[in-house]
Order: sequence, then structure tokens, then C-alpha cells
Amino acid sequence: MNPKAKVRCAELDVVESGGKVEELFAQWHPDLIAVCTDNEPSKHALNRIALSAGVVQVGAGVYDGGIGGEVYRTRPGEACYGCIADKLQLQRYTSASTATPDYSTPESGVPSTCALNLDIEQIALLQCRMILDDLLGLEAGFTGLAPEINLCVFANRIVPGTFARPWVAQFFRITRRVDCLDCAGEVEGVAEEAQRILASLSL
Ligand SMILES: [Zn+2]
Repeated sequence: MNPKAKVRCAELDVVESGGKVEELFAQWHPDLIAVCTDNEPSKHALNRIALSAGVVQVGAGVYDGGIGGEVYRTRPGEACYGCIADKLQLQRYTSASTATPDYSTPESGVPSTCALNLDIEQIALLQCRMILDDLLGLEAGFTGLAPEINLCVFANRIVPGTFARPWVAQFFRITRRVDCLDCAGEVEGVAEEAQRILASLSL
């Protein structure tokens, strides 16, 4: 919509083609990665690529049924998505069902709990705000959000036991985990420990 914006597209599966995504990032030098994918494997795949490329990420997720959602921000050297996801404990915000809903095949018999576009767009707008906040810089004061805040959980509606009030945001400062599976590569001993575990699994 902005006539001065230049758009380049590359259709890729970030999980299957992580190497290609890294090549494109090396060419395009993104200022920020907006993580808009809708499953954990793709978010972690992008997280690992962003970590090696040293690029900021701002991602979002909508909770089951659109009851609310989260927006997160990662910066190089700070908590990555792996660190944040570990703290999120998404099950707090989703139904107790252990079945994985398959929205694409209704005949699977798993009842789906769709989110309204309205619910999704509410979270997407917050993600856009956080993206602009980061791109414009702290001094611009676009949102006034403290720079150390890296997670926002927003309630679209009241859910007993989860969200006591609608339209309320909670803000968190998640610290980096020394044992994070995504970003703790530099931490002494973790790689060796991972190798030891993998070796024991293959026995
Ligand atoms: Zn991490």
C-alpha cells in the first residue's frame, strides 16, 4: 500500500529449506524478521536462522479459539524464541484436550475451535506495533514500551482461570536460559552434553 515500499517474494518452507532462507537473508540483510508462521517447528526454525544471522525477530501467536495471543521480540544476545517459548507454557492458554486439531480434514472427527479473523487481527496489530517500535528505535517512543519487555500476552476475552478481564495486556521480561536448546550453543559444556544425550539415545 505504501508506494515507496519495495516487495520481493520468495516462497519457501522455513523448516525444509532453512539453508535457502539463510542465503536470502545474507543477500537481503533484513533489519527485522516478522515471524508470522503458525506452528512451533517453523518458529524454532526461524529462531535458529535469526540467531545465526544476528537479526531481531518479532513474532506472534493466537491461542486456541482466539481467546487471546502473544507477541514476542528477540534481540541478538538476549532471550531467543526458545527461551521465551519455554517460559510461555502455552498449555496455560489452550484447552486441556491432548488431541491435535486437524483443521484441514474435518472428517478426522477432531472438533476445531477456530479463531475469528477479528481475534487474529487484534494480535497481528499488536505485532505490527512492536515491529514499528523496534524499527523506529527507542528514542522515537512509538509505543513507549520498555526495551527490556520481550513478551506481551493479550486477552481478547474473559476465560475463567486464564484471563480474568478482556482487552488486557500482560508484559514480561524473559531472561535468557543457559540451557536453551536454540541459543545456548556458546554456553560451555552444553554441546558436549547434547552429544552425550544423543549418543545414549542411539544405543
Ligand atoms: Zn534461547
